[in-house]
Amino acid sequence: MDAMDVESFLQGENKNLQELSITIGQAGWMVTSTGEESWNDALEVAQNEWKRYLSDTERFALITKHLENKQLTSLQQRQLTELHHLMINQQLDPKLAERSTRMTKELVDIFNSYRPTVQNQHVSNNDIRTILETSLDPEERKQAWLASKQIGKQVCDRALQLIQQRNEEAHTLGYDNYYQMQYSAQDLDLDVVFALIDELLVQSEEPYRLVKQQIDEELAQKFHISVSQLRPWHYSDPFFQSTPAVSEWSMADYLQNDRMEAITAETFQSMGLDITDVIARSDLYPRDKKYPYGYCTAMGRTGEPRIMMSMNPSEFWMSVMLHEFGHAAYEKNIDAALPFLLRKPAHTLTTEAIAMLFGRMTKDREWITRFIKPEPNAFASHASALRGTLQREMLVSMRWYITFAKFERELYECPHTNVNERWWQLVEEIQHLHAPEDTRYPDWAAKMHFTLAPVSYQSYILGELTASQLHHYIMTNISRDLFSLEAGTYVKEQVFFPGATWTWNDLLKRATGEPLHPKYFVQQFVSSHCKQ
Ligand SMILES: [Zn+2]
Repeated sequence: MDAMDVESFLQGENKNLQELSITIGQAGWMVTSTGEESWNDALEVAQNEWKRYLSDTERFALITKHLENKQLTSLQQRQLTELHHLMINQQLDPKLAERSTRMTKELVDIFNSYRPTVQNQHVSNNDIRTILETSLDPEERKQAWLASKQIGKQVCDRALQLIQQRNEEAHTLGYDNYYQMQYSAQDLDLDVVFALIDELLVQSEEPYRLVKQQIDEELAQKFHISVSQLRPWHYSDPFFQSTPAVSEWSMADYLQNDRMEAITAETFQSMGLDITDVIARSDLYPRDKKYPYGYCTAMGRTGEPRIMMSMNPSEFWMSVMLHEFGHAAYEKNIDAALPFLLRKPAHTLTTEAIAMLFGRMTKDREWITRFIKPEPNAFASHASALRGTLQREMLVSMRWYITFAKFERELYECPHTNVNERWWQLVEEIQHLHAPEDTRYPDWAAKMHFTLAPVSYQSYILGELTASQLHHYIMTNISRDLFSLEAGTYVKEQVFFPGATWTWNDLLKRATGEPLHPKYFVQQFVSSHCKQ
């Protein structure tokens, strides 16, 4: 088979996949916009069409064969690789695939319907959250925290079975385990990623210890106990994923609804990135039955992304808005001449990096001063604390991501007999939390992502590191001001425009002169903290 045959084969694939993808994009949009059952059915039909198309074993064999062709151009090679990654997950024996779909659905149902109890009274997850954020009564906190883990017991056995099932699926496709298979399908090298994570752990260990010590001392004082008496329920988040701000200031006072649109548009416009057309296509405000979270969709990669959100004037939604419009600015500026398979961000982690870079701005003094324009006297006393807040937030959430990723890898690679105890060992080692007295309870399984969003946390870790590396490069080589035309032109040309022409790490090497390295994250959120 010669290069011309490959080219016409790829043309057909690009055309078919784009058509299927547009139908999914439209149905998905309508489901979240209306909450109507009929759109849900249409979405399911469209998704099944997509899966059926990708499950074709003969075409998959052909792609595998094409990939061995030494005459391929680099664009053909990249398209075939993307196609291979898309198809590998759909190559399962239908009986096996059907079993894991059923097991997943059972778990979704339990997560959706389970109501925890405190002293035989049903409580909601919001009740638990409110107690952990506000209660000063240690016993009440402990009961709420334990309640947040009750679901773990309900799902643990099923979760372990599903993991085993996924491993069996991976075996049939020639992989050691499911974790390894997903890394391969995501173009990630396990050794490279975990070497980065280990390096990050070492470099951030001392600064994390300092930040954690500060948080612990504040909590010990608040609850009138010693630091050694602190247990997981004294923290405001059940998994210590996040931590409250160092000082509270109310951004919400400056964020009436239409101002948030203007602030977002001005932010991107300052970099020469026009997103007013995206705002016009988007659905931003809450309605009855509408999807309550936020997402950006590429709508079949036609260069017309749009955003679904249910925002209200708050710092939280301001950050979500900047994050989602970061994704949209990326999608909109990808080279329109690229074939469908490559007209997308280089990687999930790359588009997350861009989104995170913008999402972080609600804690950035310069951005707030320039775009929120707070009353200077009201803002002055909080401005200096913002840096500390962002550093805390970054270090605490990064440790959580790493704990999750390390434990998840072990779940697939070396099934432990003492899986629950192992969870607490890692939590103590990485997050430095004191375990509760009883570590035999499946606390880990209360985190839905272990079962329902497998092998995805590494994208957050790598995304944060990439955001910091790009930020550092811009500050050092392009412009001291991120919100300048120079910085905008740089991201547009070096990051957005090439789409998936290069792999994520090649793109980063071209854009910053070196492959991904954790030192820029460490510099950005760690070094100056030590000096304080
Ligand atoms: Zn995102």
